[in-house]
Amino acid sequence: MYAGAKAVFYGLSRSATLKRLASKYGMRSSDSFARRFIAGETVEEAIDTSRRVQAEGLHITLDYLGESVRTVEEADTATRAYVRLLDVIVAAGIERNISLKLTQLGASIDRATCVDNLRRILEPAARHGFFVRIDMENSPWTQMTLDIFETLWQQEYRNVGVALQSALHRTARDIQRMNELGARVRLVKGAYKEPETVAYQRKADVDAAFLRMARVLLDGGTYPAIATHDPAMIEGTRAYAASRGIATDRFEFQMLYGIRRDLQAELSSEGYPVRVYIPYGTEWYPYLTRRLAERPANLWFFASNLVRT
Ligand SMILES: Cc1cc2nc3c(=O)[nH]c(=O)nc-3n(C[C@H](O)[C@H](O)[C@H](O)COP(=O)(O)OP(=O)(O)OC[C@H]3O[C@@H](n4cnc5c(N)ncnc54)[C@H](O)[C@@H]3O)c2cc1C
Repeated sequence: MYAGAKAVFYGLSRSATLKRLASKYGMRSSDSFARRFIAGETVEEAIDTSRRVQAEGLHITLDYLGESVRTVEEADTATRAYVRLLDVIVAAGIERNISLKLTQLGASIDRATCVDNLRRILEPAARHGFFVRIDMENSPWTQMTLDIFETLWQQEYRNVGVALQSALHRTARDIQRMNELGARVRLVKGAYKEPETVAYQRKADVDAAFLRMARVLLDGGTYPAIATHDPAMIEGTRAYAASRGIATDRFEFQMLYGIRRDLQAELSSEGYPVRVYIPYGTEWYPYLTRRLAERPANLWFFASNLVRT
């Protein structure tokens, strides 16, 4: 079931017809189906959503959607959009926290270009007190993502952290490394279909690894982010932190915009920092397909909305 749902994601993300239909109808009006997961296509909509989320006592991180760009020019355009986003966030007075993907900044074209582009963002971000999270993409990019992260870390950028996936066999080692550096990690299960040579295939194994890794981060990490909607993962994290006397403000929970809002509110009301990942932009289709694949019920929601439009 677990691997099966992810296989659906591949089918979906490659279907040109579905993409065309979804892109036409998904964001068309205020109640269109993609809006459940995506704040909107414009930065103004993202800022409005962020304000609403913050007004509920939650924290935010803003993601300008885009990935796997193919040319240096596209990578440059995405980089400029992020630099502009920093200014917009400062002007809006919302929380200074962004998330980005390295294939959006040119990692798949040329590593040096990507390093330069990331630096173009980290530099003003540092000046304005932003935290920048590097999302983790599928496994062909894991090593490069971590190498680029360390390159910038060695250049004394400290306003940056990475996401690591409990599904991957290598992640226990990567967490050790991040803990040695003192770098901030966002722990996730992993949204991509991966081969068994590199990743656990059974949900139970991914979950067990998640809980093991969350404990290592709580014990020796730097303000870790436990990013999940899974009540069992959340309960395991809370229980372990309590048993070790780790204060609720020494780590944070993170969830995606539009998913388990009830749980977001509940944890926040109990004094845990909760950060909501808010994606926006026109390139929302790959992000949407990952959300659909995570939960079969979402596929019905998607399909029935397409039929109704
Ligand atoms: C803040 C944040 C950042 C992330 N960043 C990355 C990243 O950088 N790289 C990466 O590979 N992955 C990332 N992910 C996605 C992550 O890897 C998982 O794919 C995703 O969170 C679903 O796993 P889960 O931990 O919620 O557990 P699951 O076992 O998948 O789900 C547990 C429960 O959560 C709810 N739920 C989960 N997903 C959905 C959904 N799509 N729609 C509705 N309900 C749902 C359901 O109630 C489900 O039963 C991120 C997730 C979060 C929350």
